Amino acid sequence: ERLVDGASSGHGDNWDAALRPKMLDEYVGQEKIRANLTVYIRAAKARNESLDHVLLYGPPGLGKTTLANIIAMEMGVHIRATSGPVIEKAGDLAAMLTNIEEGDVLFIDEIHRLSPQVEEILYPAMEDFQLDIIIGQGPSARSIKMDIPRFTLVGATTRAGLLTNPLRDRFGVIERLEFYSREELARIVDRSARLLNIQTDHSGAMEIACRSRGTPRIANRLLRRVRDFAEVEHNGVITGAVADSSLTRLEVDHLGLDHQDRRLLSIMIDKYNGGPVGLDTLAASISEERDTIEDVLEPYLLQEGLIARTPRGRTATPLAYAHMNRSLPGSLRQ
Ligand code: ADP
Repeated sequence: ERLVDGASSGHGDNWDAALRPKMLDEYVGQEKIRANLTVYIRAAKARNESLDHVLLYGPPGLGKTTLANIIAMEMGVHIRATSGPVIEKAGDLAAMLTNIEEGDVLFIDEIHRLSPQVEEILYPAMEDFQLDIIIGQGPSARSIKMDIPRFTLVGATTRAGLLTNPLRDRFGVIERLEFYSREELARIVDRSARLLNIQTDHSGAMEIACRSRGTPRIANRLLRRVRDFAEVEHNGVITGAVADSSLTRLEVDHLGLDHQDRRLLSIMIDKYNGGPVGLDTLAASISEERDTIEDVLEPYLLQEGLIARTPRGRTATPLAYAHMNRSLPGSLRQ
């Protein structure tokens, strides 16, 4: 299991919930989304209406689930959380939708993984707050329409392009989450340290922030690992030096890259002369799923300018050569 994977590991991440900001003003960063949501929430409340359906997309660990919970909290309604792969039958979703109260938030994580039959149920539910239910079988089967409470669907996915057009079109609000800046991550580390009773100084928080791949979930995870080193081998205080030596031992480098990222870069450089190399070829050479590369590994490497996307595949940039201590081939020299 990767220390620097933004996805929740499902186990061992229970502290996640404790560190989750509850209200919009505790939520660090994502200024544009926060400003927009503040307006939409105020407007909906003033009109006594439910909030429009919201689609949140971006790499794992950036705060989509947290935002869904905050939206419910700010609207003063309940939240029901589920995920695309968990809803197996149309009836499962119908049951959830008939059990919610007026204005409630239904959060569907990994919404791109809904089955076509379940999606079909969702369209009239989102648009007209109606369920089309088929009763009976064979020639006597008929469809009845049933009203359901007005609700807000909050959907989360890694890439908006994974959704079918009809589903995407039914969201009134579509927001993309960005990687966090180092300063924002340092604020998140400071906040988490306070909540977990961990002592850090500014350089310690900053060192962890720099090595968290722009991702709050990773920052929180690294903070907890570094704390172990600080308590066992030092006097408990996370300084810049303590964070640096601990993270180096955990094989998280100065840019937050781990073994897996470095392997990807070295294969691109050493085996494919810096590329371009196709995603499927890369996936096969590091034995990873294509989706994992596209959703988890690649976005941060792209954002840091270590790799580039071209029509013929991915290329390693001069920055990647420098980071991996390789000399630049003639073709990349200016
Ligand atoms: P996602 O649903 O996008 O995978 P989560 O909402 O589960 O991500 O966020 C992962 C963890 O990161 C949360 O438990 C929370 O502690 C922390 N976190 C995320 N976004 C923020 C933020 N803007 N400010 C502070 N902490 C955050």
